[in-house]
Amino acid sequence: MAIVLTNTLSGRKEALRPRQAGHVRLYWCGVTVYSRAHVGHARFLVTADVLVRYLLARGLGVTFVRNITDVDDKMIRRAAQEGLTVPELAEREIAAFNRDVRRLGCLPPTHEPRATAHIPLMIALVERLVAKGLAYPVPDGSVYFRVRRFPAYGKLSHRRLDDMEAGEEIDAAKEDPHDFALWKGAKPGEPTWPSPWGPGRPGWHLECSAMSAHYLGQPFDIHGGGSDLVFPHHENEIAQSEAGAGMPLADLWVHNGMLTFGADKMSKSLGNVLGIAEATNRFPGEALRLLFFGTHYRAPLDFGPGRLEEAARVLERLYESLARADEAAGRAAAPVAPAGALTGTLSPFLAEFTAAMDDDLNAAKALGLVHDRVREVNRALDGGDRTTAAALRADLARVAAVLGILAEEPARFLAALRAGRTARTGLGEAEIAAAIAERNEARRRKDFRRADAIREDLRARGVLLEDTPSGTVWKPAE
Ligand SMILES: [Zn+2]
Repeated sequence: MAIVLTNTLSGRKEALRPRQAGHVRLYWCGVTVYSRAHVGHARFLVTADVLVRYLLARGLGVTFVRNITDVDDKMIRRAAQEGLTVPELAEREIAAFNRDVRRLGCLPPTHEPRATAHIPLMIALVERLVAKGLAYPVPDGSVYFRVRRFPAYGKLSHRRLDDMEAGEEIDAAKEDPHDFALWKGAKPGEPTWPSPWGPGRPGWHLECSAMSAHYLGQPFDIHGGGSDLVFPHHENEIAQSEAGAGMPLADLWVHNGMLTFGADKMSKSLGNVLGIAEATNRFPGEALRLLFFGTHYRAPLDFGPGRLEEAARVLERLYESLARADEAAGRAAAPVAPAGALTGTLSPFLAEFTAAMDDDLNAAKALGLVHDRVREVNRALDGGDRTTAAALRADLARVAAVLGILAEEPARFLAALRAGRTARTGLGEAEIAAAIAERNEARRRKDFRRADAIREDLRARGVLLEDTPSGTVWKPAE
């Protein structure tokens, strides 16, 4: 069966047909490195990552390009506020971004081009557009794209030009308010590069057009990004690249949905921006991935209070089952690489998993199958059937490589999780155990006042007790 993805261009699911047999060329818009990446960025990073992992798992080669925008208006403003140069700000934020991406467990892209390292390519594209009469310079040294000369403008966002708001730049020298800047003439204090139109810097849309075609050729197979980039960013990329080269930029345009927080969008002004670093300080990066997989990548995802905590608890339970299976087998399951993980003869479970992922990366359905198999592992272990448990465990290791979750050695993962919890309470594991023992002793004596006092004292220190049939357990108050 073919891998099918929803193409924003057509609004329909379409089969992925790599132009080069067996090899997929993929571009995904990255970040502008002016401030820390947040969980909204995490969603696009994980969506792209699971697509790449899945293509590799199906035995395809992948060239994956994710760019870094290291010069733009926001960066110039932020650098000035902090008394840094734009390159200094970029270096600092790129280092932080790399840490964030590692914590999310994302595979590194094949190429991660920075805009400022590719200025000549961008100038060449603008020159081509000017030569074709599709772009024009204005007196301040900026160059604009003549939107009305590209009749297909609006085909990605399904809008008519006359219904659109004007382009971002307010400039009396523009021929049409919809025209957008390819190149921005120098302003005092801004970083600039020499160009045929005088010193200036590239527009954001231009960067992706120039770098995607450079690393992947044109047309390439898949162009992705967050749905907030459909207009104007991707619409403008299409206009520049397709007008310049006279051929499509990419065959499939794939977009992930945004996060919502209850009824709100995440935004700095609402004060509900959760950084990837903050989220992964408190919870494993895999918990974020698990949370994302519960909703189809194209749909909005509710990141309301408690959802990440809940995902972390589910993740822990899954790891506990795998740890049990490994213990019964007497060894940890061998790690599996993503490449080729779903090739060869597939068990019925893996075939079903593959069918779900083939259908527009339906990770929510695939994840449901994983939960079913983990329950089967538990049942097999309860019944002493180690052979079945081991077979299921081996399948789950292959799936883990595709989703990038449950990929750590369970015993080690759980130990690290517990150590992290203990560290956050500021109490030692032994200290908590001693307090629980003392409380149990008080309860045995029916000294409930003392027992409650111990419970309250622990609660005040961030440790919640829970009495279960198999004894008292604790968890950190999140
Ligand atoms: Zn882009």
